[in-house]
Amino acid sequence: MTQHDRILTLLRDHPEGVCGITFLQTYMPTYSQRIGELRRNKGYTIIPVPCPYDWHQHNSNIATYQLVEGINAEQLQLEDANG
Ligand SMILES: [Zn+2]
Repeated sequence: MTQHDRILTLLRDHPEGVCGITFLQTYMPTYSQRIGELRRNKGYTIIPVPCPYDWHQHNSNIATYQLVEGINAEQLQLEDANG
C-alpha cells in the first residue's frame, strides 16, 4: 500500500475530515506533500476543513482535510475553474 493509498483510506474512513495530527500518528510526516500530489496528479478533491476533534486543542495551523467524491467534487472543481 502506498502512502497515497493510506491517505485515501483514512480520508474515506473519516468523512468528517482527517486532522494533521492523525496523519502524524499514522507515521506520515509528509502527508501535506502527498495530499498535494493526490490533488494535482490524480485529480482528487481534498479540501481543508476545521478540525472536528475538540480534544486535539491545537491551533489552526494544523490543517484538517476532507475528501470530496462524486457529484460534489465535480461541482467544487467547476467552482475552482470559474473562480
Ligand atoms: Zn485536530
